[in-house]
Amino acid sequence: MLPDQDGPSGGGGTQGVKEDPAVSLFREYLQLKTVHPEPDYDAALKFLTRISEELGLPMKKIEVCPGRVVTIITWTGTNPAVKSVLLNSHTDVVPVYQEHWKYDAFAAVKDAEGNIYGRGSQDMKSVTIQYIEAIRRLKAAGKRFPRTIHLSFVPDEEVGGHKGMETFINHPEFQKLNVGFALDEGLANPTEAFTVFYGERNPWWITIRCPGSPGHGSRFVENTAAEKLRRIINSFLDFRASEKQRLDTSECFTLGDVTTVNMTMVNGGVAYNVIPAEMDVSFDMRIPPTVNLQEFEEQIKAWCAEAGEGITYKFAQKFMHQNTTSTEDSDPWWNAFSSTCKAMNMTLQKEIFPAATDSRFIRAAGLPAIGFSPMNCTPILLHDHNEFLNEGVFLRGITVYERLLLTLASVAPQKGEE
Ligand SMILES: [Zn+2]
Repeated sequence: MLPDQDGPSGGGGTQGVKEDPAVSLFREYLQLKTVHPEPDYDAALKFLTRISEELGLPMKKIEVCPGRVVTIITWTGTNPAVKSVLLNSHTDVVPVYQEHWKYDAFAAVKDAEGNIYGRGSQDMKSVTIQYIEAIRRLKAAGKRFPRTIHLSFVPDEEVGGHKGMETFINHPEFQKLNVGFALDEGLANPTEAFTVFYGERNPWWITIRCPGSPGHGSRFVENTAAEKLRRIINSFLDFRASEKQRLDTSECFTLGDVTTVNMTMVNGGVAYNVIPAEMDVSFDMRIPPTVNLQEFEEQIKAWCAEAGEGITYKFAQKFMHQNTTSTEDSDPWWNAFSSTCKAMNMTLQKEIFPAATDSRFIRAAGLPAIGFSPMNCTPILLHDHNEFLNEGVFLRGITVYERLLLTLASVAPQKGEE
């Protein structure tokens, strides 16, 4: 099942050194083809069942949609009445362009530097195994905590989470978990620092329909669809340019602090010599939580009104929740998280996640969630070719979670919890 302990490439510098079993487990998990469009979720379920047996912790399977199972492994606390800590990870990964990879994207090859290549090595199979190994170590050390720790393994994050976390969050089984605080995925950081995400931008996908007078392609027809389309495109792309300018000229802004706009589809027309009666254009927008969404939609309405008569729009996706998680020192969860990191001499960079993860559903339910993948000194390669994680960084992450769980699962009960 596993490639030989030093990897198919020979292992170089690690040759002869016995591989840490946590690394072997990570590499084994990377080999499961839970890749879209047809993820092998059965393989993941089998794997997790084995983990639950190894850890001696009960597992629950909740089929939230046909063929879409959320798995929960639970370590019950000594005070199970108080709120729990949720460690969430998704089991699916995005497709690969194998021809652009140095190695088979599902072979989990480890090179001479200890870099482990594989789809999901950053997003987010590493985190899944780090959670598991941290729990394994804490259990082996005989630790117990007041708060219950749940590990949730969810499908379909990479296709929007609709048949995964979005459905699960409204499921009675989720309510039963009695979650007080959640950890979910973050991003690598190429520097010494670790990035933590306390909010996400809101994805809005919009299609704008521009109707116009049809006619023969040889004439100056008035009020054409294309003229309206051009004004719409100009308004959106002018706004795009101004946001890009804001990002480029501010030292303290990251992508998560500005609105991105991208024109992603254009439709319309039937023939070269026929002026069409309609054309439409679609945009992908990502809006930071600091933007007033009502005002932003008024702006879109104004652009449509300025561009001509009869223009309408429709949203394919319009996420409206703007909850962010507190990063004030007075917040007990954040305090536990950040003080543990500080004690380990870790530098944290607080950011708004530029894209979308399952955290948005957790925060929309009113629960605090921090997006965190302990991968510093690592290039951001999620969804990219040759995604890898160094085994040293991976192993350090287990220690980080071990320490984090020690404090998070021991946060004193808050008002109303007991
Ligand atoms: Zn992910």
